[in-house]
Amino acid sequence: MRYSRQIILPELGTEGQAALQKARVLCIGAGGLGCAALPYLAAAGVGTLGICDDDQVELSNLQRQVLFKTAEAGKPKAELAAAALRGLNPEIGVKVHATRLSPENALALFAEYDIILDGSDNFAAKFLINDAAAKLDKPWVYGAVLGFEGQVSVFHSKHGPCYRCLYGEAPKNPVANCAEAGVLGAFVGVVGALQAVEVLKLAAKRPQLTPLLGKLLMLDARDWQIHEMALASSPSCPICSTKPENIRLTISNNACSTFSASDPSIPEISAEDAVKLKMPFFLDVREPHEWSEGHVRAAKHIPLGTLLSQTAPELPREGDLIVYCRGGTRSKKALQHLRKLGFTNGKNLTGGFVSFSGAHPEQCEA
Ligand SMILES: [Zn+2]
Repeated sequence: MRYSRQIILPELGTEGQAALQKARVLCIGAGGLGCAALPYLAAAGVGTLGICDDDQVELSNLQRQVLFKTAEAGKPKAELAAAALRGLNPEIGVKVHATRLSPENALALFAEYDIILDGSDNFAAKFLINDAAAKLDKPWVYGAVLGFEGQVSVFHSKHGPCYRCLYGEAPKNPVANCAEAGVLGAFVGVVGALQAVEVLKLAAKRPQLTPLLGKLLMLDARDWQIHEMALASSPSCPICSTKPENIRLTISNNACSTFSASDPSIPEISAEDAVKLKMPFFLDVREPHEWSEGHVRAAKHIPLGTLLSQTAPELPREGDLIVYCRGGTRSKKALQHLRKLGFTNGKNLTGGFVSFSGAHPEQCEA
């Protein structure tokens, strides 16, 4: 009776429901993403849910962490979330791991579960989830929110590209997290709910339900631009090119201690040096709304998603081709693609448009 509305979905059926009840899902972090995803997983009858979090509820969390109540400030989040989920569905098992994910405990934690749900808000945790999941051959559902932009994907190393194929290294100047950048609770809920859908699709193991493996869903809530970007495994990925037994878990804060730079073969150029070049060609791979807010004068604009779908972009093959995005991550992805197409003259603008417009505002226009 409890699950009748989903069992009648032919794509799920009794078979899918039975698989859900056998599934074991570990959520890393009981923050905004976890608070959105976990109730749906509990309600849908996922047999075992684990919650890994060592924080207490703070008043400033409640704007997006809607599993918690005002009177619960100061109390442990994992315990409270577990109680809420048990109240929602007493038929499932909920386990509390009141600890912070670390290279020391990740393998033992993950070993108990089939699917890892990423409810973390920082690069270091995401890299650790990726590496531990790859080592144990488990899929994980990635979610990230920054301001009005969100991303969702499913990573399962050896079955598709992994998170490090996409991002390589933790950035030297990490993008701000919620505390610094600000975030709309309802939008975090959207991203968390999308993650829950992906977890349910994986857990149900039904052929009609295709997870976001090898695809990155990118959402912009300002004008609801939604893109799906195909991801490719990177030949230089330190995880995908390593045997699982040889993967070593670390916490990467700034420069990662065990891996070299993700793609040292892509040359970098600073804003200072870029303006000294004779007739450089600038390629802007940001989204249209970012372009319209300002760009390098005379730059060509091809958003990353569009560029990645092109096999013969109209770009010069000689002279200096300088590619930039906001901060320098998407442009690297663009340059990897361009190199596969035979462009050997590309350079990555270090620090992206932010650094360029800061150093040379007179070279920019809106
Ligand atoms: Zn990889």
